[in-house]
Amino acid sequence: MKILANDGIAKSGIDALETAGFEVITDTVAQERLVKYINDNNITGLLVRSATKVRKDIIDSCSSLKLIGRGGVGMDNIDVDYAREKGLHVINTPGASSASVAELVFAHLFGMVRFLFDSNRNMPLDGDTRFKELKKNYGAGIELRGKKIGIIGFGRIGREVAKIALGQGMEVLAHDPYCETATIDLDFYDGQKLSFNINTIAIEDVYKNADFITVHVPFQGKPLISKKEINMMKDNVGLINAARGGVIDESDLLDALESGKVRFAGLDVFVNEPTPNMRVLMTHQISMTPHIGAATLEAQDRIGTELAEQIESLLK
Ligand code: NAD
Repeated sequence: MKILANDGIAKSGIDALETAGFEVITDTVAQERLVKYINDNNITGLLVRSATKVRKDIIDSCSSLKLIGRGGVGMDNIDVDYAREKGLHVINTPGASSASVAELVFAHLFGMVRFLFDSNRNMPLDGDTRFKELKKNYGAGIELRGKKIGIIGFGRIGREVAKIALGQGMEVLAHDPYCETATIDLDFYDGQKLSFNINTIAIEDVYKNADFITVHVPFQGKPLISKKEINMMKDNVGLINAARGGVIDESDLLDALESGKVRFAGLDVFVNEPTPNMRVLMTHQISMTPHIGAATLEAQDRIGTELAEQIESLLK
């Protein structure tokens, strides 16, 4: 059986699929040529990331196709319900990149409490002439250990964030309307294990008590955190959004950074990607990355092997 990985797939996935007896094709076929290519080559499985669209035209015209796989989470580029109605398997790898996003949250957190994002901008410019001044500017950092982290949305990524936070000696304040309690298992390199039961709490209690707040919810149609919610938070709070652009209202966040209510923010996601608002990009208290939360080599490997495992069990 032939699998076309049209947006690429990690070597781990190719190896696992080939070991299971599949032929893997990694050509990138242009969208308008896909139907003909799939039919000419008798493709059984079509794997995509976010670039290739799998709409009704492909589903209706390609009778050899039995499975559509998305390496990653969001399936906006696939007509999922329609494909399933037509009897196709549609799979994704929702958990493969959770730990990568969680590490990026902590990269922002560690960076922001010691001003690394700003220091990295200014040292190359002024490090040789204003060293003492910069040293003074960045000399009032704070530590994460012993602080309270608010995690809003206690799903896959939220729980991975909790693991790192617990290991770092932080108290976890979690809120999730669909989860009352969760067990967080910490696995150490030498085989030791520790388990924590975390009971979720009211969102107001997270806002009132957390020193840092990170959001890990799906986009809600409108911001989850706006001016009203920010005003309930502690002064000098740090906010992180690595969920979806606009889960924290960008304009209210900028105002709160300017007034000093929010001390720093970390953003991996932006309203209007891939052209974020220039005011956001120019705000120096924001640590920012261009939506790379899931983008680690390890996550790509896990995506490859997870897809291969599911394909083998569904098609063999
Ligand atoms: P998940 O479905 O495992 O968890 C989401 C959690 O949010 C669920 O437990 C749900 O009950 C909870 N939730 C829903 N509405 C809520 C609300 N109003 N208040 C509090 N909790 C609420 O999803 P996940 O895999 O943890 O992903 C979380 C978010 O991260 C998604 O928005 C996803 O798009 C985003 N994400 C970003 C990147 C990146 O590159 N930065 C990568 C992957 C996922």
